[in-house]
Amino acid sequence: SNHLSDRIKNMSTSATLAMAAKARELRNEGKDIIGLSLGEPDFNIPDFIKEAAKQAIDDNFSSYTPVDGYAELKKAISLKFKRDNNLEYGPNQIVVSTGAKQSLFNVALVVLNPGDEVILPAPYWVSYSDIVKLAEGVPVEVTTGIETDFKMTPAQLEAAITPKTRMIWFSSPCNPSGSVYSKAELEGLAEVLRKHPDIYVVSDEIYEHINFAGGHVSIAGIDGMYDRTITVNGVSKAFAMTGWRIGYIGAPEWIAKGCTKLQGQVTSGANAIAQRAVITALEAPVSKIQYMIDEFHKRRDLVLELLGEIDGFNLNVPEGAFYVFPDISAFFGKTLNGTTINNASDFALYLLEHANVATVTGEAFGNPNCIRISYAASEKELKEAIARIKAVV
Ligand code: PLP
Repeated sequence: SNHLSDRIKNMSTSATLAMAAKARELRNEGKDIIGLSLGEPDFNIPDFIKEAAKQAIDDNFSSYTPVDGYAELKKAISLKFKRDNNLEYGPNQIVVSTGAKQSLFNVALVVLNPGDEVILPAPYWVSYSDIVKLAEGVPVEVTTGIETDFKMTPAQLEAAITPKTRMIWFSSPCNPSGSVYSKAELEGLAEVLRKHPDIYVVSDEIYEHINFAGGHVSIAGIDGMYDRTITVNGVSKAFAMTGWRIGYIGAPEWIAKGCTKLQGQVTSGANAIAQRAVITALEAPVSKIQYMIDEFHKRRDLVLELLGEIDGFNLNVPEGAFYVFPDISAFFGKTLNGTTINNASDFALYLLEHANVATVTGEAFGNPNCIRISYAASEKELKEAIARIKAVV
């Protein structure tokens, strides 16, 4: 391992996957662990999508696909962008990849040169900073807290911009905070960006449909933003298709072309069967998946109510995704059952060891005062998990 590249040595292991592995280990030792660490819907894939995949196998969709995705799939994505986001993306602006994670990775390698700065409003999704670093970019974190619902203000954005700023990356609805940027808030950010025409925006909209307030807004639709926004989306969350690994972008043509060129040397394109199934998924009306969104909404309310009864848990009201991100800094410096809690990582570990509940430290998301709790679990598990947490704090 001495000969491991610096690139890999300097990379952090995904904290969410690490926590899931640790939980699995304890489970194997016979402990009854409730896992609330993963960003994965606990639903099955809807049957109509499974049927489409079975049909694709029987129809022999077994060859390499076009590198940027089947034409029929890009057509379905184009219609979806128009239908849900009022965005016009033609086939030359769309690239299908092996999960939105690869879409993000492609974009970083295509747009960034070494030393380019990327503004990340924190808390941000755990992989952004490592993807940016792999592309030799420099993540610049902008700290936000519960007082602004974990959203970056225009003044904060303005203050973070330097001559080296090349991009800003954010998700709305946000993983981990569940925050949703309103149209007015995005317009505020766009007003700042219009003064800096060379800065590109990655708008990660993978939780678009899991929005309880209604009214998802894409920043690409705001004045002056279309030609410099990469809209990232995928089917992992809304369609419960995490393992099928399909994500996509709508972007300026030169960026899409760059991503296709890169992908042609890396994966040759995404999985054929999954692509065929996603055509069916995206052509279906959103009403077909509403039952999952309604269930997440119910659980969010339950979790907020139950966690709200625990002293020291300070919560925003997340309007989307399926996470809560309580600020638990009130526990710092305290000793619980002989364990001193100095930071969020100590607290998450304490919950794992004493309550048998797996969560993730906010440090992995660029916020050391919080932990992330996923409520993509059954009501029964959520009630039990929160009762256990309450009992040990
Ligand atoms: N973006 C955000 C904000 C996510 O939470 C995730 C998954 O956790 C992804 C992207 C990656 O999704 P995919 O499964 O499509 O790679």
